[in-house]
Amino acid sequence: MTEEKIFERDNSNYLPVFNRYKIVLDRGEGVYLYDINGKKYIDFLGGIAVNVLGHNYAPLVDVISKQAAKLIHVSNLYYTQPQADAAAKLVKLSGLDRAFFGNSGAEANEGALKIARKYAKKFSPDKTQIITAWDSFHGRTLATLTATGQPKYHKGFEPLPADFDYVHYNDAEELAAKMSDKTCAVMLETIQGEGGVYPPKDDYLKKVRELCDKHNALLIFDEIQSGMGRSGKFFAYEKYGVKPDIVTLAKGLAGGVPIGAFCVTEEVAQAFHAGDHGTTFGGNPLACAAANVVLDTIPDEKFLAHVEEVGTYFKNRLIDLQKKYPNQIGEIRGEGLILGAQLSKPKRTGVEIVNECMKRGAIINCTVGTVLRFLPPLIITNEHVDEVVDILDSVLGE
Ligand SMILES: *Cc1c(COP(=O)(O)O)cnc(C)c1O
Repeated sequence: MTEEKIFERDNSNYLPVFNRYKIVLDRGEGVYLYDINGKKYIDFLGGIAVNVLGHNYAPLVDVISKQAAKLIHVSNLYYTQPQADAAAKLVKLSGLDRAFFGNSGAEANEGALKIARKYAKKFSPDKTQIITAWDSFHGRTLATLTATGQPKYHKGFEPLPADFDYVHYNDAEELAAKMSDKTCAVMLETIQGEGGVYPPKDDYLKKVRELCDKHNALLIFDEIQSGMGRSGKFFAYEKYGVKPDIVTLAKGLAGGVPIGAFCVTEEVAQAFHAGDHGTTFGGNPLACAAANVVLDTIPDEKFLAHVEEVGTYFKNRLIDLQKKYPNQIGEIRGEGLILGAQLSKPKRTGVEIVNECMKRGAIINCTVGTVLRFLPPLIITNEHVDEVVDILDSVLGE
């Protein structure tokens, strides 16, 4: 089928909720993608932080193929070894006590919010306030879109679940003023992704932890984008020396197979009894087998050191671009391989820059209209960075 036929077929049948770029992707190999015309692209978006091991990573493909041939699904009425293994690995890595698997980031956060509300009921029936940050992103279910501090995602879906409040990320004083003994939980992305790539400043997260302890509120870190080694640590919170009561994961956790997870302390876990939560597909042996490959690969010291090193190289190359085009590029932000370049007064809009890079064979992303965002596979090398930065340089230089 030709590209035009596929555009037409999709446009006339699929729910039109995405502004898609006009290419039809067909196959991937490592850090590269190919469209149906055979055109090659270097992929510095990684399916939005999903393809952490790149495309077609042989050990992952092998495990998925073998598991698919053996057993794809059985329901959570039974035990399977891939699920038991994946849960044990996540518990060990997170320093928390129990894990639950769903199928997406939104489901992971939805589960985290549910268990937080249930846990707080133990103390008082009106300990229900959930505080999240403006410009956050937590998902598209009713509770998680309400948690998402961006009014554009709320519009039209009212009435929204009650008792959500918002504060500015990195402002501990504002948070202190909003919190009380009615606060059930504070949920934050450890590094804000979709909102424009904002890492926590100074000891912000430590102050948040203290405030949560003071008010007996749970601290939930959404590591759906910042986790799985992207920051240079398996969990970004390890970088800041702050441990949450609940952490949520998804995106790269199974290297591209749909999965979501949340981990909690034993004390929080006690709030849920048999029947309080569930899922049909979540934690199926196929997804968990894939997750086990990621969980055996990324936490390795050498792997994480590589993310840190190539991330530093990439950040420095972006800072050089900023110096070369000070009118077009402002601040460079991020950690490891979650990086953002703030556009100041570019000759082209963010979306135009992304489109122009795509024409030249590089896939990057623009978030909030004014921040170029890079979430490449974690296996990229300095040469891959050079390839993308050179393309960006040629686009900005025109
Ligand atoms: C992508 C993302 C989500 C939502 O994940 P889905 O799998 O799309 O439901 C939630 N939180 C953060 C930080 C994300 O980046």
